[in-house]
Amino acid sequence: MPSSIDPASLPAYAKAVLSALEEAGFEAWIVGGWVRDALRGDPAHDVDITTIAPWQTTERVLEAAGIEVHETGTAHGTVTAVVSGKPIECTTYRVEGAYSDFRHPDSVAFVTDVREDLARRDFTINAMAWHPTRGLLDPFGGSSDLAAGIVRCVGDPKRRFGEDALRILRAIRFAARFGFATEPATEAALASCAPELAHIARERIGQELQGILDSGRAGWALEAEPSVLAAAVPELASLSQRQWRASACTLESAEALSGGMASDPLLWAALFSAVAPKAAAKAMRKMARGTELAGQVAVLLGELAELRKGHPAAWDEGAVHALLARLEQKVPHEGRSLIFGLATLGQAEICAAEAVGEKGPFPGTDRAAFDVIRSHARLLIAERAPLRIQELAIAGAEVMEIGGLGPGPEVGQVLKELFADVLAGTLPNEADALANEVAKRCKR
Ligand code: ATP
Ligand code: MG
Repeated sequence: MPSSIDPASLPAYAKAVLSALEEAGFEAWIVGGWVRDALRGDPAHDVDITTIAPWQTTERVLEAAGIEVHETGTAHGTVTAVVSGKPIECTTYRVEGAYSDFRHPDSVAFVTDVREDLARRDFTINAMAWHPTRGLLDPFGGSSDLAAGIVRCVGDPKRRFGEDALRILRAIRFAARFGFATEPATEAALASCAPELAHIARERIGQELQGILDSGRAGWALEAEPSVLAAAVPELASLSQRQWRASACTLESAEALSGGMASDPLLWAALFSAVAPKAAAKAMRKMARGTELAGQVAVLLGELAELRKGHPAAWDEGAVHALLARLEQKVPHEGRSLIFGLATLGQAEICAAEAVGEKGPFPGTDRAAFDVIRSHARLLIAERAPLRIQELAIAGAEVMEIGGLGPGPEVGQVLKELFADVLAGTLPNEADALANEVAKRCKR
C-alpha cells in the first residue's frame, strides 16, 4: 500500500473546490472515503470536502468562484458543489450531540478544529483528512490500520455503536469489501451491540446489506458475524445452526462460482436459500430492495424448492426450453438471465450440502445436470428460441387470415397450441412451418 497520496491523483474538479475555499481564507481538507481509497491506490471514489467555513460561507465563496452549489443537507452543514458534472459534498467541521434514537444525533455543533470533525467519524480508516500540500492528517492511526487490514472504531466501540447502530453493519461492510479483520474490541462490541440494530429503519439496513452482498464476501460475513446478521435480518434469525451454515456456504459458493459477477437476484436468493420464497420477498420489500428484485428472488427460490422435490426426466433441450419459458412467463424479459442464476444457485447448494456432509439436495439434478441446463440454455438463447407466445414466428393476424378465423378466443387457443408444439420440439418456430400448421388445424 502506498504510504502517501500523489497530489496529481486529486481530480481537477475537486481541486477547483478546495482551492476556491482556501484562496478565500477558509481551511479545507479532502476527507473520508476518497482519502482511504487513494491510500489503497484507488482514487476513483467520490470526493468529500470538510471545511472550517460555515455552509452559508461555503456557498457564497464557491458561487463567487463560478461554481454551482446545491443546499443538500444544510442542517448538518452540507452543501454540494458541482464541477464538470461531478458532485463534491462540502461539510462544515462538526461534532454531534447525544443520540437518543440509535441513529441520528439529537443535535450537531459546528467547530473550528478539523481533528474534532475527524473524531466523530466511524472508523480509523474513514477518519483521515488529506490536503495536496499539507499532506495526510491521521490522528487515529487510520493509515497503519489500513496497511494492516483492520477495521477499528474511532474511540470506544460500544459507545460508537450505541450512538448509531448502523455503524455495526458498516463495519462488516468495510471488512467484507476490503477483506479486513475487525480489531478485537470492535469485534466484541459488534456482537454485544447487535440487538440495537432493531432500532434502525429496515430500508437503511437493506442498503448496507446490499453493500455487503456487492463486496463479494457476504458468505464470509454470514459465517463470521451470525449474531449481527440475525439481528439485521429477523427472517434469518429463526434458522437452525445447520441451516445457517448451509446458507453461508451457499452464498460463498455462489460468489466463488460466479467469479465476482453474481447478479443481485442470485445473491439475495442465496442469502435467503433457507427461507420460504414468499417470506424472503416480503423481507426484501421491507428492506426497500424493490418489488421487481423481490419477485425475481421469490421465483428463484420457488424453482429451487421444485427441484428439491425431484426432476424425473432427463435435462434435454425440451426440458430446458420449458424451464426457460416458465421463468420468462413468471418474470417477463428476465427468464434468460434467471436460468443462469438458478443453475449457479443450484450448484452452490450442492457445494453447501457437501460442505455440511449431506447428500445432494436435488434428486434428478446433480452438479453436472446444471452444466447441461446452462449449455442448452445458451444454445436456445443463441437460436432465439421463443420463450413466450409473442415470440412465435407467426402473429395473431396471420393466424386469422390463414385459418379464416374472426377475432375471438379461438385465435389465442391456436397460438397456445402452436407454442406448446414448438416447446415440445415437434414444430420448428419458422413462419412457413407455422403457417402450414395453422392451415392444417383450421381445415379440420
Ligand atoms: P463508501 O465507499 O461506502 O461511500 P465512504 O467512506 O465514503 O465509503 P460514506 O457513507 O460515503 O462512506 O460516508 C463518508 C464518510 O462519512 C465516511 O468515510 C465517514 O468518515 C463518515 N461517516 C459516514 N457514515 C457515518 C456514520 N454512520 N458514523 C460516523 N461516520 C460516518
Ligand atoms: Mg462515500
